[in-house]
Amino acid sequence: MVCDDNLITFCRRNGPPRSLPGREGRSLVLMEAPVIMVGTDSVEVERRLSAGELACPCGGELARWGYARARTVRGVGVLRPRRARCGRCAVTHVLLMVSCLLRRADGVDVIGAALRWKAAGAGHRRIAERLGRPVATVRGWLRGFARHAQGVCSAFTALLVRLDPLTGPLPSHPSLFADAVEVIGGCAAAARRRLGVVGAVSPWQLAAAFTNGRLLAAGLTVELINTN
Ligand SMILES: [Zn+2]
Repeated sequence: MVCDDNLITFCRRNGPPRSLPGREGRSLVLMEAPVIMVGTDSVEVERRLSAGELACPCGGELARWGYARARTVRGVGVLRPRRARCGRCAVTHVLLMVSCLLRRADGVDVIGAALRWKAAGAGHRRIAERLGRPVATVRGWLRGFARHAQGVCSAFTALLVRLDPLTGPLPSHPSLFADAVEVIGGCAAAARRRLGVVGAVSPWQLAAAFTNGRLLAAGLTVELINTN
């Protein structure tokens, strides 16, 4: 999925910037701005825009600003991402669904399935065949994730501890790649236990939200803060 604008994560009006609101006043905050990931329901996104519930990282209120060009995301469908403009800083943003990753033409659940199979020992050709995707595409996902597996492990391990300070050690694997997949699953489970609201999205969609769509890209940083 190629996005030509700034992208930002779901923000709560009057809340901290770049946050995915949760229960009990807690928000998941994504440090890699400027990206706003939104839920998977475009009707809900429109409602939130109308209600002034989506905020720019600067804290300003976002208002409708047309649409970005339509894109086909395999496994998700044809998307015409909403474009929004900040009333304070006048920056425009594209609101990216959490079912997508930046610059990837496949939905994050499809890519996540490939990552899981690779972690379980499957090769890229077999995964490509299983998913009906080009071998080169699947190899690109796996290489992208492998390249940043150390960063994913570190970021998601820190997130896991913040989500569940009493969490036990996760099973260790022979590869960093599999460890990274494991800790993402651990975070999704911990987030569901703690925040409840995230149960509506899949673990991979949660990973997309945590990383601002940059799960396969460099420079990911995730952080959980308490906004009580
Ligand atoms: Zn702004």
